[in-house]
Amino acid sequence: MIEIVIGADIVPTPSNFANFQNAKMEEIIDKDLFDIINSADFRIFNLETPLCNNQTPIDKCGPNISAPCNTVIGLQQLLPSFLCLANNHIMDHGPQGLETTLNTLQSHNISYCGIGSNVSAAKRPFILEKDGLKIGVYTCCEHEFSTADEHHPGANPFDPLNTPDDIYTLKSQTDFVIVLYHGGREHYRYPSPELQKRCRKMADKGADIIICQHSHCIGCKEQYKHSEIIYGQGNFIFDLCDDDEWQTSLLIKLQFSKQKYNCTYIPFIKNGAGITSPDTTQATQIISDFEQRSQAIASPNFIYQQYQKEAQQALPIYTATFRNNNIYAMRNYLDCEAHHEIFSFGLKHCSCLPEKFSAPKQKKFFGKIKSSNGKRSFYLFGFKIFSYKKA
Ligand SMILES: [Zn+2]
Repeated sequence: MIEIVIGADIVPTPSNFANFQNAKMEEIIDKDLFDIINSADFRIFNLETPLCNNQTPIDKCGPNISAPCNTVIGLQQLLPSFLCLANNHIMDHGPQGLETTLNTLQSHNISYCGIGSNVSAAKRPFILEKDGLKIGVYTCCEHEFSTADEHHPGANPFDPLNTPDDIYTLKSQTDFVIVLYHGGREHYRYPSPELQKRCRKMADKGADIIICQHSHCIGCKEQYKHSEIIYGQGNFIFDLCDDDEWQTSLLIKLQFSKQKYNCTYIPFIKNGAGITSPDTTQATQIISDFEQRSQAIASPNFIYQQYQKEAQQALPIYTATFRNNNIYAMRNYLDCEAHHEIFSFGLKHCSCLPEKFSAPKQKKFFGKIKSSNGKRSFYLFGFKIFSYKKA
């Protein structure tokens, strides 16, 4: 049997730099959680920041985050089997920030995945192996200022044509495939219609477990054919925000035997700069909310209707961005799958268009009437059809 524990976003922040730098992680992760993490055969986390001591921020919208290189000591204490770097912040400090990140991880013997000098290198999966079982892990992210292409370094982008084929190939070489998909709408607890299609396609191509990270909140899950899809895991350690959504998260424990796998969801809560186990009542509540949302998405039209409400609220923010000529936000809203989808969906299916963006009133007919020398002439498609004298 293989046991793997997966935690989501980890970012050292000023509130806990010292814990990371001085190998005092037990002060910000309680013993119960540490024991669960340590008892697994393998551990995976998503490092959602470059490690760099000099700031070289790229032009983008949203925050450029970074952590000092020596916070790697705390990461090392978690004994990661590898860190996922396929996320939207890993290039926040450009190729220089990436170089110091990779050098730092290498010099501390921490493996990583989902990043490379070009897209072919970035898409290489990570294979975990024990007792004759092989588990392939494929990591990818949506297009948000961080993705590699054939000529530039960066994170492995989700590609609707290539990613399913990559997963199919990986499945042919392994017993099970896990996909870490870094994307979806932030702070939204349900899949969008497109995200569900994308995840189901990856399942059809051989992914057994698909975990969507990046939304910073616990979402819901569905059993699709033989695959488990999790739409939102929350964070691991990321003390940036005190919104309700950021307060609860899941560790996902996966157990594989030759014939089958089992997923266990372990809830935990944010506790200042760190994380802790909830009491039994809280734990039951977190899991029951997760299950309820999971049941909700199984009913027909729920995902569409829920997303319509979300798009209705979001649309004015998107249209305002275009009015304000914020070119980095424009690029992000057109390029990134989650932003593009909600903007486009909102324009098509919602009724909250602000005045300035509402379509011009339809003319009643296609012709034009021109007046000159006391006569009125009616033109259709540029040709004079008839004239008559003005009354
Ligand atoms: Zn993210």
